Amino acid sequence: MNELKNKLYINGKWRPASDGGTFDVLNPATEEVITKVANGTVEDAKLCLDAAEAAFPLWASKSPRERGEILRKAFELFSNRIDDIADLITLENGKGRTDSIGEARYAAEFFRWYAEEAVRSEGHLGVAPATGARILVHQKPAGISVLVTPWNYPAAMGTRKIGPALAAGCPVIVKPASETPLTMLALMPILEEAGVPPGIVNILTSRSSGRVVGEMLSDLRTRVISFTGSTDVGRKLLHAAADNVVKPAMELGGNAPFIVCQDADLNAAADGLMVAKMRNLGEACTAANRIYVHENVATEFVDLFVAKMANLKMGDGRDRSIDVGPLVNLETRDKVDYFVRDAVSKGAVIKLGGQKPVGKGFFYPPTVITNVPDTAECLSDEIFGPVAAIQTFSDEMEIIQRSNATEYGLVAYVYTSDMKRGLRISESLEFGMIGLNRGLVSDPASPFGGVKQSGLGREGGKEGMLEFQETQYISTE
Ligand code: NAP
Ligand code: MG
Repeated sequence: MNELKNKLYINGKWRPASDGGTFDVLNPATEEVITKVANGTVEDAKLCLDAAEAAFPLWASKSPRERGEILRKAFELFSNRIDDIADLITLENGKGRTDSIGEARYAAEFFRWYAEEAVRSEGHLGVAPATGARILVHQKPAGISVLVTPWNYPAAMGTRKIGPALAAGCPVIVKPASETPLTMLALMPILEEAGVPPGIVNILTSRSSGRVVGEMLSDLRTRVISFTGSTDVGRKLLHAAADNVVKPAMELGGNAPFIVCQDADLNAAADGLMVAKMRNLGEACTAANRIYVHENVATEFVDLFVAKMANLKMGDGRDRSIDVGPLVNLETRDKVDYFVRDAVSKGAVIKLGGQKPVGKGFFYPPTVITNVPDTAECLSDEIFGPVAAIQTFSDEMEIIQRSNATEYGLVAYVYTSDMKRGLRISESLEFGMIGLNRGLVSDPASPFGGVKQSGLGREGGKEGMLEFQETQYISTE
């Protein structure tokens, strides 16, 4: 692996924080410090805005094809470095090799998809019914965009925002999660080599996230805040964005139901649950959180699923035979452990795992619990770990109501062999995305996002670019 990048990246240059401060980034498998990273300040946030402001006009005036070609080059360069980026993701996040490779490929795809979308910004021409005046509608870049990303996908949550912003003609300032800033920094040489001019992508690592992001939101030059993370922080940012009426895009928490109907292909459903639950060790807003299995097939399904979970090997993700690495930090691991103990104290039964290991690293084993009572806290909060909490149901209407009984609405999964039933249940679910006989919905070409308190706006697909555009209408004779 090349030398680690650990400074701020502003206006195309690497620089320390203005007060020289740094913070530690840990390897969650060993708890050792990987490196110290620049702790950006409010002063640095202003420098980022200055750089973005200066670079914006030239970037916005480039032809869509030119911007698209640069993103295409970034996709190709990224694709050639998948292994290195995946190593870095594992090093700072802990996830196993398969998950890291999967994330790196997924992350690169956003550059390819938005290279293609850059040239497809649509408008229309109409006629005013009463006056006959012409109505010309087109999209303009929204302006300087602040992108705040979480630690669970250190590369993909960044590229999913950077790709459409650049395609639309916007400069960005990225504030990566402090647990995992190294991957985003490592992507900067790729963007530079691809031809992204100085000032268009700036990286502001900082432990003082509230202060630096607050500074940018209070500056009239910021026009978009695109955030992925917890609903609590999203709410704070929405309040802050209100003062200057900054355009928000919010990808927040989830509490996904995973419904297995009596007529489902149980083996396919168990495979689907392995993906929906265990991809990224369950550290995903899309992770199956409440698993509902029809009572007539519950025993058979649980046996199938437990057998698959029991095959997973836990350890340091740098060892390529490992399926399950450590969770990202102590807080996340202890919260997962708490959820299991809480459920068991209320009557849940452990079918697999359920013991917090001793020793270094934030490990938690693949765990399956059944007979989970409705009062268990893991059903109303995000588990964010490798714990499958299984309940049963008997009636279709009942399970739709139970699934919808949450303030979240990101994704739901449904397994059934009857397509009519599948569509009927899908359409009754109050979620932005549905996996119908699929345990994975994320795709660069599709609109990712939630309803209710899971967020506002969409990322990916055609819709993702609209978050970084403003519609302008010209009225003329
Ligand atoms: P988080 O605490 O909300 O942090 C996310 C980002 O916000 C980090 O960069 C963090 O910086 C920053 N941040 C924290 N407090 C802030 C503040 N007051 N003002 C501005 N920025 C602030 O979430 P997390 O613990 O990293 O990630 C887990 C959460 O993300 C889960 O709830 C999960 O569901 C959600 N998530 C949602 C999606 C989605 O697309 N819907 C995708 C992935 C994750 P620091 O690291 O410096 O604190
Ligand atoms: Mg946090």
